[in-house]
Formats: sequence, C-alpha cells, structure tokens
Amino acid sequence: MFNCQLCQEETCYVYKYCDNCQNVKRIMNCYGSKEVLAILNRVCLRNGEQQDFKIKRELGREKMKKKILDTIKEEEGKEVSPKPPF
Ligand SMILES: [Zn+2]
Repeated sequence: MFNCQLCQEETCYVYKYCDNCQNVKRIMNCYGSKEVLAILNRVCLRNGEQQDFKIKRELGREKMKKKILDTIKEEEGKEVSPKPPF
C-alpha cells in the first residue's frame, strides 16, 4: 500500500499515481510539463495586484448582495404593512 507519488493523498495499490494524478500525467504527456506548469502558474497563482483586484471584486459583490437583500426586505415590509385608507 503506497501513497500516490504526485498528490501524496490517495492510496495506490497498482500504479504510482491515483486516478486524478494519472489524468494530470496524461495531460502533461500531451502538452509537456513546462507548458502545464506555465498554465497552472498563469491560472492558479495570483500576484499581489491580482489578489487586490479579486478582493475588491469580492467585496463589491458582497455589498451588492447586501443592497439587494435590503431592497427585498424593504419591499416585503411595504407589502406586509396595511395600505393607508384613501
Ligand atoms: Zn494522486
């Protein structure tokens, strides 16, 4: 019983790599390890500027969600309250 040699998480009985890592290995065989590493760096890793952008965007989304929820609550409050007599 061995751990997968790539992820070190899954147990492997026959092969060196678990199913997921075998797929990664196949992709690396097709594109080359340097290209796969470059793609991972480009897509998965973020520099400080990119992190700041992501944080600001996520905070903006949270503010927008809160605004929408507040608007919905306001609208529900208006619907529940009795209408004034004419
Ligand atoms: Zn693995």
